[in-house]
Amino acid sequence: SAKAAGRRQWCHYRPALQAGLVERHELNENLDSAIAESAFQLYYQPIVDLHTGDLVAFEALVRWPHDRRGMVLPDEFIALAEESGQIVPLGAWVLERAAEEAAAWHAASSAARAAAGRPPLRVNVNVSARQFRDAGFVDVVRHALDSSGIDPSTLVLELTESVLMRRDDRLRTDMATLGDLGIGLAIDDFGTGYSSLSYLREFPISLLKIDKSFIDGLGLSPQQHALVEGITRIADTLGVQVIAEGIEHPDQRDLLAAMGCPLGQGYLFARPMDGPRAQALVRRATYEPA
Ligand code: C2E
Ligand code: MG
Ligand code: MG
Ligand code: MG
Repeated sequence: SAKAAGRRQWCHYRPALQAGLVERHELNENLDSAIAESAFQLYYQPIVDLHTGDLVAFEALVRWPHDRRGMVLPDEFIALAEESGQIVPLGAWVLERAAEEAAAWHAASSAARAAAGRPPLRVNVNVSARQFRDAGFVDVVRHALDSSGIDPSTLVLELTESVLMRRDDRLRTDMATLGDLGIGLAIDDFGTGYSSLSYLREFPISLLKIDKSFIDGLGLSPQQHALVEGITRIADTLGVQVIAEGIEHPDQRDLLAAMGCPLGQGYLFARPMDGPRAQALVRRATYEPA
């Protein structure tokens, strides 16, 4: 009938927006069961000393192995999980898992590293604004430290400025409490948005990650170069360590090292890798230093 044909046609020409909503709903439901089943995986990307090439830390990056979609990257689901609040249980899982993994690295490498005068490997964990704002967040961090037994100084939380922008009493109290636990606090993606150097004196920040978009311009734009060098100098004066993100070319590494930037991360050194590969790298980097 004409009616049925019309309906079929409507289905066929379903507007893109509607398709987007259906997909989003489906993704949300999948995300729920994935959280319930701990179906996520953590990948780990090395952070290295730009002068010696030493492995100093790994950043934990969440992945979602999905039946039909393959390996889903965080840019496709973190924002959704933030909107729905699903980031709270997902983020707690990430913290626990990353701390457990760090405990395994420490068991394999801390004694030998100490003998060589090198501190234990750190693990950097990304924390979203919604997750940080949750009343149970500080307890989640405490629990991850207690259950893994890792030294608090080996855990670093990477916060974007959307966390720090609020500047209310709760934020101040929580940042102070986290600082007192002895963990490291980093500003992620620095240079994007309204990044303000004043965060460095307002909060117990120990690390600053300069966004890839600035590193991309090194050697091409004198302005970008001056900015990165200036940020590095100011951070250094304030006792804050800089990590340059997204280093892909040797000349970027050389320019950064020459301007005194201590740490870097990027495809030039290594892509994010799964847990077993990271553990193998820990052993290589510990017993066969380059
Ligand atoms: P981010 O924290 O800034 O992490 C760095 C991202 O840049 C990662 O993407 C990493 O794979 C990528 N990257 C590293 N080096 C290079 C490079 O040399 N070139 C290029 N083109 N890319 C590079 P990924 O893993 O897709 O993560 C994207 C973002 O998702 C992260 O950005 C972070 O904001 C968020 N994210 C990842 N894991 C978590 C998590 O467990 N919790 C939360 N809340 N957010 C997460
Ligand atoms: Mg990060
Ligand atoms: Mg980043
Ligand atoms: Mg980023």
